[in-house]
Amino acid sequence: MDFPRSWTDPDLDLWRDTCARFIETELEPDDAASRERGHVGHAVWRRAGELGLLCADIPEQYGGGGGDFRHEAVFYEECARRGLSGMATSVHSIVAHYFLNHGTEDQKQRYLPRLARGELVGAIAMTEPGAGSDLQGIRTKAELRDGHYVLNGTKTFITNGFLAGVILVVCKTDPTQGARGTSILIVETEGCEGFRVGRVLDKMGMKAQDTSELFFDEVRVPAAQLLGGKEGQGFFQLMSDLPYERLIIGVSALANMEGAYRATLDYVRERQVFGKPLIEIQNTRFKLAEVATQIKVGRAFIDRCVHDLVAGTLDTATASMAKLWGSETQCRVLDECLQLFGGYGYMNEYPIARMYADARVQRIYGGTSEIMKEVISRQL
Ligand SMILES: Cc1cc2nc3c(=O)[nH]c(=O)nc-3n(C[C@H](O)[C@H](O)[C@H](O)COP(=O)(O)OP(=O)(O)OC[C@H]3O[C@@H](n4cnc5c(N)ncnc54)[C@H](O)[C@@H]3O)c2cc1C
Repeated sequence: MDFPRSWTDPDLDLWRDTCARFIETELEPDDAASRERGHVGHAVWRRAGELGLLCADIPEQYGGGGGDFRHEAVFYEECARRGLSGMATSVHSIVAHYFLNHGTEDQKQRYLPRLARGELVGAIAMTEPGAGSDLQGIRTKAELRDGHYVLNGTKTFITNGFLAGVILVVCKTDPTQGARGTSILIVETEGCEGFRVGRVLDKMGMKAQDTSELFFDEVRVPAAQLLGGKEGQGFFQLMSDLPYERLIIGVSALANMEGAYRATLDYVRERQVFGKPLIEIQNTRFKLAEVATQIKVGRAFIDRCVHDLVAGTLDTATASMAKLWGSETQCRVLDECLQLFGGYGYMNEYPIARMYADARVQRIYGGTSEIMKEVISRQL
């Protein structure tokens, strides 16, 4: 059974081939070693940049591909369907979009071409040991002194944190002001005094993706490195990019379900039980029929969201539904698929085991399922 996308076209199909070739030749062969190391390394980012695969939806004048969200979605899908989560191009793109949508002209010109070339890997640091869902509770502080912000604080769970060359750090520039005292500082990591990356965190899944703690101790950041050049805009900047960020998770969740479905179908056709292929047992066919139905129904909704995002009309509540539905369904589907592999499904050498472990975090990062329900329920 196929699950065709309503938003693709012949050019995007060619682009998909290009992405798939890169993933199969550059990313996949190194996946086991990357999982061992806890990161994919800089070389593959630069290679992706050389091939024009990064920042596909950033305008060409800033070094991007000049495409739209669909071009980005293709790359996420091709990774997700193979269960390859090492290269967090999603976070990289989110960072690029902060520059594009909120940066000054100087900031766009300084950072976007380097992000597109893969010279700099991007990260965004919001979460702290004491504040995740409740971002207003962050304590990282930046004080303006002699033309520099002096940054102090600790961030945790930061995707791309180990490899990042540029980090958008969410901090308080006026701790008395709550949301309106929040700003985003642009921190370049190379040679940055007082900045330290902690260990690459040991996660249950997404082993090839570097997730790190970051420490800022009296880090001096030039005042010109304030995103958008105006203090107190941090929360507004964070909120306005949410539809983009949440749809990425919905898109990759659905592609991952498709990959799991296909891997399971192949397996149950081969695996013999009680003298016949596993697929001949009614329960197997019913389970896969349920999974295929989820994917087909989900495709209609997610595709609609993709169209709306490209048209600029996707609202935060609907994007939150895509994230909520996508991640929750992904976890259920992966569980059903893994069950059909029996004990082999529990072995890490089988991609289904890795996909299962990787899927779990989709309900947590980018805003938890509970926070998605909060956001949606405000629009009831
Ligand atoms: C692999 C990974 C990668 C990540 N990447 C990044 C990154 O790149 N940058 C970044 O800044 N952060 C990142 N995060 C952090 C992630 O966004 C947070 O973990 C997430 O937002 C939840 O915050 P928390 O862990 O502090 O949990 P908490 O906020 O402490 O939540 C604990 C539980 O309470 C629930 N809860 C909280 N508030 C409410 C409420 N109002 N109503 C109902 N339930 C509630 C939550 O849903 C959750 O179940 C990443 C996390 C992981 C695991």
